[in-house]
Amino acid sequence: MRKVISKNIMTYMGFEADFEDAQLVLFGAPFDGTTSFRPGTRFGPAAMRQEFEGLETYSPYLDMDLEDYELFDAGDLDLPFGAKMRGLEMIYDQTKAILEAGKIPMMVGGEHLVSYGPIKAVSEAYDELVILHFDAHADLRDHYMDEPYSHATVIRRSWDLVGDGRIYQFGIRSGEKTEFEFGREHTTMEKFSADTLPEVVKSLGNTPVYVTIDLDIMDPSIFPGTGTPEPGGLTFKEMIKVTNELSHLNIVGADVVELSPQYDMSGASTAAACKVLRELTLAVLRGR
Ligand code: MN
Ligand code: MN
Repeated sequence: MRKVISKNIMTYMGFEADFEDAQLVLFGAPFDGTTSFRPGTRFGPAAMRQEFEGLETYSPYLDMDLEDYELFDAGDLDLPFGAKMRGLEMIYDQTKAILEAGKIPMMVGGEHLVSYGPIKAVSEAYDELVILHFDAHADLRDHYMDEPYSHATVIRRSWDLVGDGRIYQFGIRSGEKTEFEFGREHTTMEKFSADTLPEVVKSLGNTPVYVTIDLDIMDPSIFPGTGTPEPGGLTFKEMIKVTNELSHLNIVGADVVELSPQYDMSGASTAAACKVLRELTLAVLRGR
């Protein structure tokens, strides 16, 4: 038999469908231009794509398999170094194109600022959008070093888009006093854990939801591979409880950000990031 020679393109395992057939489209946003402490999240999407090769597509947690769905990997955006507004525009355009094709966008970062692109596009597509934000950091600064667009301001900029009562934050254990004060007034913030998530999920019903997971919500003991590690975070099992719970929601877009693979030479952080991505993808699909 003639051997079929195919293109040498590495995709996330289980994301082998064609764009037209896919219900969910994944893309990488390798950008870390506003990272304040340790850069390196630009290497996140590529490291995860490689690690994903060794990952099972089946989730014993959700009893679901990525192989049972039509998923497309659009690769990583070619974002211009240092040009954050141009980069955000490209990410926004990419998300908009995915939404207009009737598909669910799933982004892999990059630093957290990249989430502004999909959040803007998704908030324009869904009037009633609610954002669930998982993070060690509040990301509610109005400016960071005089810059309104930064990984430390991304949820504040998202609040500009959706307004009061639409943002739920979990696991927050670091930020300026003013960020916590802002949170008390304008968002629903759970500090240190995500124990209230089941109640929030119940209250949301079928509301369209965007989920942004800053992986540094997990404890540095299991996830040291990130730019700004914060002790006191979630265990991996607590993280899985989160993704299981998310499977009851109507998720219309999601992202996983802030893996900086080179700070964890053991590779365990990258493995954890991949599992969170797999579980989040399946959680999104279950809600369909
Ligand atoms: Mn963040
Ligand atoms: Mn963070």
